[in-house]
Amino acid sequence: MSTDPTPGASGAETVYFSPERRAAVLVETLPYIQRFAGSIIVVKFGGNAMVDDELAARFAEDVVLMHSVGIRPVVVHGGGPQIGALMDRLGIESEFRDGLRVTDAETLDVARMVLVGKVNRDIVSGINRHGPLAVGLSGEDAGLIRASARNPELGFVGDVESVNPAIIERLLAEDLIPVVSTIGVDLSGQAYNINADTVAAAVAGALGAERILYLTDVEGLLADVDDPSTRISRIDLSGLDALFADGTISGGMIPKVRACVDAVEAGVGSAHMVDGRIPHVVLLELFTDVGIGTMVLPDGGVAADGRGVEGPDGTAPGEVTP
Ligand code: ADP
Ligand code: MG
Repeated sequence: MSTDPTPGASGAETVYFSPERRAAVLVETLPYIQRFAGSIIVVKFGGNAMVDDELAARFAEDVVLMHSVGIRPVVVHGGGPQIGALMDRLGIESEFRDGLRVTDAETLDVARMVLVGKVNRDIVSGINRHGPLAVGLSGEDAGLIRASARNPELGFVGDVESVNPAIIERLLAEDLIPVVSTIGVDLSGQAYNINADTVAAAVAGALGAERILYLTDVEGLLADVDDPSTRISRIDLSGLDALFADGTISGGMIPKVRACVDAVEAGVGSAHMVDGRIPHVVLLELFTDVGIGTMVLPDGGVAADGRGVEGPDGTAPGEVTP
């Protein structure tokens, strides 16, 4: 990494603070560091952040910083765009049904090679530039993700049957950072490609995670998908039911929001969808009160850590803003 004062990936100018101001900024993060120390936070890495080298480098820094202050981060990643790109290069046609890629044996091979052999390696390497911390895993490793076919017509597209978090817990006990590719296996050893949002929620639930963060390509959940100013800052499960019912949630947001619901129902304190196009969005979410993205809370709107009663923007839980 360059030590030059390069601007961030957003193109924003680097701002220089006095040493005193830097110390003050560090102290401001103290309550957050104390709140999260020792807790498991699952981060689903995806979207633009994963295909932009600068953003990926900022993400790796955020994960290392979390680890350095005593948080136990677990990274779960997807890779749909990278799978599509290699399919194109190999001249293999992708067929989609209801937004899901039909996955025959050849497509599964490509997905597995891209996710486990390329995307996972890139994330692990990015983190390990800062120290010997990250270990890559596939859901096939040590029985981590048991899968079953979603629908025979879709081929090897899987659903999560169960998660055995033992291998992740062992890595966390060794102070390592697990990075999980979302390939699962059935009892016969057949591999399946599984939606990474879904896997992240199941992993977070199985680990008893404090929080789950979804990095995505939008500002968060939007009341009007074409208007970024309609970001919903906080919502509870009943509020989401209403948005599913009226069609506000569509496309790639469907599995993501369902995963947020699953995670919260499984006991995860809160689920957050944040804009992965913002450099250091993970740090902004965890260590500041700027109220970034969309926070999903249990009904009643209080997260396990007490957040959610009064949000930074003063909205009530379940309330749709603006
Ligand atoms: P990811 O890589 O994060 O999984 P997806 O493309 O699968 O990204 O899901 C995010 C997309 O969901 C957005 O880019 C947007 O096009 C779509 N979407 C549908 N409904 C909404 C909504 N209500 N708010 C925000 N995004 C939505
Ligand atoms: Mg998606």
